[in-house]
Amino acid sequence: MGLIVQKFGGTSVADAEKIHKAARRAVAARQKGNQVVVVVSAMGDTTDDLIAMAKSVCGDCPPPKREMDQLLVTGEQVTIALMAMAMHAQGQQAISFTGGQIGLVTDNSFSKARIQSINKQRLFDQLNQGKIVIVAGFQGVTPDGEVTTLGRGGSNATLVAVGAVLGADVCENYTDVDGIYTADPRIVPNARKIDRISYDEMLELAGLGASVLQTRAVEFAKKYNVPIHVRNSQNDNEGTWIVAETPNMEHIVVSGAALKKDLTRITLKHVPDQPGVAARIFGQIAAANIVVDDIIQNVMDDQTANVSFTVEHGDLEDIRQVVKGIIHDLPPTEATYQGNLAKVSVVGVGMRIHTGVAGKMFKALSEAKINIQNITTSEIKISCIIDREQGAKALQVVHEAFDLGTKK
Ligand code: ADP
Ligand code: ASP
Ligand code: MG
Repeated sequence: MGLIVQKFGGTSVADAEKIHKAARRAVAARQKGNQVVVVVSAMGDTTDDLIAMAKSVCGDCPPPKREMDQLLVTGEQVTIALMAMAMHAQGQQAISFTGGQIGLVTDNSFSKARIQSINKQRLFDQLNQGKIVIVAGFQGVTPDGEVTTLGRGGSNATLVAVGAVLGADVCENYTDVDGIYTADPRIVPNARKIDRISYDEMLELAGLGASVLQTRAVEFAKKYNVPIHVRNSQNDNEGTWIVAETPNMEHIVVSGAALKKDLTRITLKHVPDQPGVAARIFGQIAAANIVVDDIIQNVMDDQTANVSFTVEHGDLEDIRQVVKGIIHDLPPTEATYQGNLAKVSVVGVGMRIHTGVAGKMFKALSEAKINIQNITTSEIKISCIIDREQGAKALQVVHEAFDLGTKK
């Protein structure tokens, strides 16, 4: 007996039958004596469909972010009500809440808001009456009552935040694969399911393209030490546990590989080479809440510098606006954009004490005739920027080179 928070992703609630199946799982956990909270995503591809709908209305004029969030939150709101109805039909008392109704307060950064607090009393009041509580993922409200969303994949963040404030025994993340694999199983067919992975490795994998969990959710889980169990909603197999690091994890040099499929490199040319300029540029980018990586600076002969960095395709519109401001503030800076890039990475806490990982990765890419355009490393990862069209191949050969498909 305990307190369980379960989250069902879009494919796991895609139609009436799947909603009933997810509901049955939650009801079964309740009948075993647990208190159960269920977080749900929008059904199937609803969020993508809503984005396409906005595009069809707005054309090339980017929609106001506030209105975009007003639109996107509706997806999850459909699912909560249907999930509550399914549970009632199964004879289980249940009540659904939007983000605002559980006082899930965020900052006012529309489209990627950060969670600040949750009113756990409302949740406990209902749980203590024996009900299953259903919460809309991916959404919150600002202190002023504006509706916000938490970034793509944000229902993961709702799961972990609710789990953390309630002191849940476990957060179960139900999705369409059996757990976390050594690489995306849709791209690498012989990828292997991992039984346990550390928060730090999962943070890197998620940040480097393993979209099965949102990075922010893992950050939150690490901070509050909330264990996450990633499982398949269509079977009862044991999934992957994401937990604090244990000493024996360092025996495995590389735990997984990941691919970011669509990156754009921005190069700022003729940037004045003076102290404080980089801080100004990246300060403005950070203020716009855009994540950049792979930063390269080259100083030229004429006292100016070239500064390059990559962003994800989804941030392209936002970065264009910021870059316009930078060019205006720092003459004679100019900007060029190079799209169609990807990034392949390997991750493992064992890299801290083992050598030779970089060489092995570069050899595998060169044998596959994949050109490396840039390299970045951290204590536990190595990443290479490559052509987008070679992304899948790169992930496959790197996975093979480290023999990740074989259990160690
Ligand atoms: P949900 O709708 O349940 O949130 P997502 O589509 O967001 O599901 O995430 C699940 C998908 O993540 C999988 O179908 C898989 O293709 C992809 N994925 C990418 N990298 C990995 C990985 N290392 N392990 C498992 N799944 C991964
Ligand atoms: N529905 C949102 C999305 O598609 C949130 C989520 O599924 O986690 O990104
Ligand atoms: Mg997801």
